[in-house]
Amino acid sequence: MAGKTLICLDRDGTLIYDSREHLFLGRDESWRSKVKFLPRVMEGLKILAAIPHSVCYMITNQAGVAITDYPLLTLERAQEVCSYVLEELKNRGAEIKGYFLCPHATLEYVHSKPDVRFDPALVRECACLKPALGMVFEALEAENITPDNAGVYVIGDRASDVQTALNIQGTGILIPFKNEPGQEDKVKKLGRDPHIFIARDMVEAAEFIRGRERSS
Ligand SMILES: [Mg+2]
Ligand SMILES: [Zn+2]
Repeated sequence: MAGKTLICLDRDGTLIYDSREHLFLGRDESWRSKVKFLPRVMEGLKILAAIPHSVCYMITNQAGVAITDYPLLTLERAQEVCSYVLEELKNRGAEIKGYFLCPHATLEYVHSKPDVRFDPALVRECACLKPALGMVFEALEAENITPDNAGVYVIGDRASDVQTALNIQGTGILIPFKNEPGQEDKVKKLGRDPHIFIARDMVEAAEFIRGRERSS
C-alpha cells in the first residue's frame, strides 16, 4: 500500500488575510466579514486534493484565546472561526478535512506584550504551539497514520511553520505574506536542504508537492 501524504496548512497569512484588521479574528462580532481568502488559495487546494493518498488539515496557533482583553475570543469562538473557514472553502469546492488549534501563549509571548492581560490557565509551554508537533501528531492520529508511513508537509507564512515540518523530518513550504517581513531570511537560515521550499503562492506550493510526490 502506498504511504499517505499529510499536508498541514497554516490559517492566518496562508489561507486567509492576516493584516492589522484581521488580527485575533473572532475578538469582535464582525469576524465573518473579515475572513478573506488569499489569491490562488482555492486553485492550490484543488491541486493538493488531486494528489493521490493526500489529505489536508489546517493547524493554527491562536494565542488570542489566551488574551483576556478579548473576552469574545473564547476557545469556542476560535473553533467557530476555524469551522467557518473550512465551510467557506468547501462552498468554493476546496476541501480541508479538519483543523487543530493551539489556544496557548508562551511566557516569552506574554513578556513581549506587557500591556496585554492573559488568562494564566492558558499560559504555558505547551506541546501544540508550532513549531512543536502536537497538532501534526493530532492530524496523523486522526488519519491513523504515523510519520513512518506518511510524508508530511507544512505550508505556512512563517519560519515557525517551516520549522514544524523539519521537526518531523517533513518538508516545509513558506509562502511569504507581506505583513510578516523577514520570514524568508529566517527560513533561508534554517538551511537549504531539499526539505525547504519557498513558494510565491498556494498554487506554486501545491505544484511543488505534486511534483515531489510524483517522483517519489
Ligand atoms: Mg500564519
Ligand atoms: Zn498549545
